[in-house]
Amino acid sequence: MNIGSEICRGCKSNNLFVGINLGELPIANELYSNPMESFETFPLCLKICRDCGLGQVQDVVSPERIFRDYRYLSSTSTFFLNHARDFVDELLSNGTVGADDWVLEIACNDGYLLRNFLEKDISCLGIEPASNVALIAQELGIEVLNDFFTENLARKLVSERGHPKLVIANNVLAHVPDIQDFMKGLSVLAGEKTVVSIENPSILNILEEMQFDTIYHEHFSYLSALAVRKIALENNLVLFDLQEINAHGGSNRYWLARKESAAEIQEKVQHTVERELSAGILEREVWDKTNSKVQKILQDFTNWLNAQTEAGKKVVGYGAAAKASTLINASLEIGNGLLAIADASHEKQGRFMPKFNIPIISINELLKLKPNVVIVFPWNIKDEIVDSISPKLPESVEFWVAVPEMLRIETVNSRSNHADNTTPVGLKVTK
Ligand SMILES: [Zn+2]
Repeated sequence: MNIGSEICRGCKSNNLFVGINLGELPIANELYSNPMESFETFPLCLKICRDCGLGQVQDVVSPERIFRDYRYLSSTSTFFLNHARDFVDELLSNGTVGADDWVLEIACNDGYLLRNFLEKDISCLGIEPASNVALIAQELGIEVLNDFFTENLARKLVSERGHPKLVIANNVLAHVPDIQDFMKGLSVLAGEKTVVSIENPSILNILEEMQFDTIYHEHFSYLSALAVRKIALENNLVLFDLQEINAHGGSNRYWLARKESAAEIQEKVQHTVERELSAGILEREVWDKTNSKVQKILQDFTNWLNAQTEAGKKVVGYGAAAKASTLINASLEIGNGLLAIADASHEKQGRFMPKFNIPIISINELLKLKPNVVIVFPWNIKDEIVDSISPKLPESVEFWVAVPEMLRIETVNSRSNHADNTTPVGLKVTK
């Protein structure tokens, strides 16, 4: 079985080893309109580059296929709206961006971040490949290029507009198959005074928090400070600062600038690199142990579901996101143990998740099913979900998560505190 490319897409090394092997899975975000007897599966295996610390899965799915029907809107998450506003306020107050500067955001989504610059009359431009999403940003008055970011596009932008003062690339680098070209593009954009800000979940989350369900085919790369520093340097950019932020279960915000004009390198960079090394991100034995733990979580999930079924309990899932797909489809035969998965997104309701053909239902349908147990897949917003759903269900209904291990979620406090909260959250699960 071919379990992924043999060359690191970050540093071109062939010194890769298998970190986590999840077997053959369907594409996580592709939900079918009808139950399907057969569907395509592809190997899903996270490989680690021993030379740069990048994690990667084989690119079996093209970016065009991912973005053909892209439904993730950042603005539906209150967390991301607040996070973006705070970030922009900070940049303006600390002088990173001033009145005469212009700002470029790569993968600007629905304008959730750039709208803050627009409000302050700072010139900005977004790049967004998904046309349905780009349109929403354009309707806010934001200038958006409906395109993929490449080195060629970067050259064109610089020749037409000069270097931006700030380039933002949040949660996009992991979805780019050609990281080298992307980084070359950043290097072209970076003038003497430009700073580049990149946010992405850290690969340490998989190793330390068992967030293996963030591995799926549409998510090509898993970044570390070690990898970003090395790939940036090859393109004449320096990683001069880094912040740990509370997004997507733990992310890093990397700050890059041209090598010759970068500010002094902050201690935090070296500190983070050392922490990654001491956690063992380059060590095969450490990953082998993690892989064994992952297999145990999958087995525990299967056993748990079977035990619920044998006890005559109705189990319904919540949140038909990629995380659910990875957990369910990497698990062994779960049979009919999971009746349905509820999701607040109208685009997903009425569809089916391969390979067990699990129907995706609305929140109202979940209530009608009268489940005994609800398993919450997006663990990163589990409290938000439980607070929203539990008041509508009998107190005997149990809520569980499967990652980082099978755990029952305590609901007593949330019920007494939020008894009047009967509106389902506009659930938008992280990529
Ligand atoms: Zn590498």
